[in-house]
Amino acid sequence: MIVLKSPREIGIMRRAGAVLADVMERLHEIVKPGMSTLEIDEGVETFIASRGARPAFKGYRGFPGTVCVSLNDEVVHGIPSAHRRLKEGDIVGLDLGCIVDSYYADCAFTLAVGEIPPDVQRLLDVTRESLERAIAECGVGRRLSDVSHAVQSHVEANGFSVVRAFVGHGIGRALHEEPQIPNFGEPGRGPQLKPGMVLAIEPMVTMGSWEVKILDDGWTAVTRDGSLAAHFEHTIAVTEHGPEVLTRR
Ligand code: MG
Repeated sequence: MIVLKSPREIGIMRRAGAVLADVMERLHEIVKPGMSTLEIDEGVETFIASRGARPAFKGYRGFPGTVCVSLNDEVVHGIPSAHRRLKEGDIVGLDLGCIVDSYYADCAFTLAVGEIPPDVQRLLDVTRESLERAIAECGVGRRLSDVSHAVQSHVEANGFSVVRAFVGHGIGRALHEEPQIPNFGEPGRGPQLKPGMVLAIEPMVTMGSWEVKILDDGWTAVTRDGSLAAHFEHTIAVTEHGPEVLTRR
């Protein structure tokens, strides 16, 4: 069942989203070569607490961090570590959520560490654009797979691949609610979007094959072929006035 949120509930989620928007802005400024992935995690945890929110991922099914930090061929769910430092030319996926008054918001983005080659920048750009196209589909009366199709068609038109093993999701009083939101599929299928639906849409895109595997740590998902991967995510409320991106200022 897809839980519809009242305007009051969306108001709370807007506050959670604003915390994440501020975290993302800060991370754009502070992420530099030489930082450990644990330093990123600890900085974000402190910031979220300073805003009166709680990290959503820490302890979720035993995940040890506040942020999933995924480098290069890691697609999602990388575990922060004091022993991994960012290098010039890396790309780093940062996925984080927070809880305000029992409601969740969830977001992700992939940053270039210093200078990256143009084809890698294009991977980041196309993934971000595919999310924007998906958001544009979040109007009342559209069907869920219109969102999925918007991602897949843009990604594949640009020669990249959409990961199948992980999907977006509804969000509210739980981090993961119905519906599941694949980043691929034919348009015009699935439930119609209604005011009060809140969706976490999160394209995961690779430069090679879409196949992934999980490392021995039980969390980190990497591309099977070692190709680079990017991940962008926003939490979006479907409203009578169109999509409202809660994790953007
Ligand atoms: Mg998510």
